[in-house]
Amino acid sequence: MEPKASKSVRVRFAPSPTGPFHLGSARAALFNWIYARQQNGVFVLRIEDTDKERSKKEHEDGILESLRWLGLDWDEGPDVGGEYGPYRQSEREPIYEKYLKELLEAGKAYYCYCTKEELEAQKEAMIAQGLPPKYSGRCRNLESAPTDRKPELIRFKTPEVKVEFKDMIRGSMSFDASLFGDIPIAKDLRSPLYNFAVVIDDELMKITHVIRGEDHLSNTPKQILFGKALGFSEPTFAHLPLILSADRSKLSKRYAETSLIEYEKQGYLPEAMVNFLVLLGWHPKGDREVFKVSELIETFDLKRVQKAGAIWNEEKLSWLNSEHIRSMDTEKLTALLKPFVIEKFPEADEKFLFKVVAVQKDRLRTLKEFADIAGFFFELPAYEWGLLVWNKEPQEKIKESLLATEEAFKNIPDGEFTKEKITDSLASLAEGLGRGVVFWPLRVSLSGQKASPDPVSIAETLGKEESLRRIEKAIKKLP
Ligand code: GLU
Repeated sequence: MEPKASKSVRVRFAPSPTGPFHLGSARAALFNWIYARQQNGVFVLRIEDTDKERSKKEHEDGILESLRWLGLDWDEGPDVGGEYGPYRQSEREPIYEKYLKELLEAGKAYYCYCTKEELEAQKEAMIAQGLPPKYSGRCRNLESAPTDRKPELIRFKTPEVKVEFKDMIRGSMSFDASLFGDIPIAKDLRSPLYNFAVVIDDELMKITHVIRGEDHLSNTPKQILFGKALGFSEPTFAHLPLILSADRSKLSKRYAETSLIEYEKQGYLPEAMVNFLVLLGWHPKGDREVFKVSELIETFDLKRVQKAGAIWNEEKLSWLNSEHIRSMDTEKLTALLKPFVIEKFPEADEKFLFKVVAVQKDRLRTLKEFADIAGFFFELPAYEWGLLVWNKEPQEKIKESLLATEEAFKNIPDGEFTKEKITDSLASLAEGLGRGVVFWPLRVSLSGQKASPDPVSIAETLGKEESLRRIEKAIKKLP
């Protein structure tokens, strides 16, 4: 399929399908995607499945599902039923083979016959001599191939040079390639290794900017050397800061290994996740933190991404989620909440659910929480009569208040049971008995709990009949 856009900026997200799709990968995908959208460029998705043992279809599916959930669409790829599929390295082996041959023929790469055990022994010998371990170069200049062994690897003849580049985030970088030794680039002509395949693909896919995690920083000089040896053009690099736990240690396993879909299951909105992930390393000029995706595309600035580690803050995620829930259109939110509600209250009515969502959406941190927090709307929970008592007031007074509230509600004509009418009907009562004595037991009788939206809103949402039923129940509870 032809690409949708063919503008100058071309970025890629290149995950390996070797495990569940984690947050660090999601952030790398997002930064690439935002940059592409902002620059009117192209976002390429490339599945790096050269590791045949560890790559799994289920993980690839997880990547695609997560990207779709986050709304990170890619712009080109093979046609699969009218959609773009991802590029897969496993389908490009003949391409890598061609370039491996080219390097071998030019004498820039060679077959290495050293076994694992021999490499281990070489390494130990170097360490014993106080040298930094690297490949000894034993097979570099073999006159002819040994007849008694098979090649183990293809190695790149690393030149003893300084590799320098300017990273968009980290500034001038310099590496001494003489420390690398001759780098393995393939197991055989059909099995390229990660560092090599990346370089070929980035060139052929005309990638202009390589935006990825800092954990890849040490790969970059190697990739630059391969590119130079093949006469490729060099992309611009931008290495995103590490994600750290609050105490600045490596991100704790609990979060680092939580797959993105887990957050979806917990009821986080993709909008909130995108907002949260982008703040892991980037900050706008002002204090503002809540952004819609369209605003991010406008405001984001790759040059403002920090070098220092980005701190993971679960509370911020939850706060951002509540902010995005609050600003979401109630109808859309209702549709998203429905599955969470149906799971617990299969009978829940859609119209009623919409009303409940409208009252409750300001108090929600996750979608999943909704069924717990707002469950009382669908089913009055059991509660002890003592909860109805406000501030150690005598229970007679509470009963009196509830009876008067019942009376007041009954006097509101059917069909006019609105917040305004309810408030008016309770005004003189609250004045006489005290606000607490009126509203506290009303809150508890309607919700069965201490914390809830204001009781008048609950009453309006429940409607006259159900409110009266719950108040009567409360009155009966009082001894
Ligand atoms: N496949 C690599 C990974 O999943 C990323 C490669 C890259 O971005 O250059 O870590």
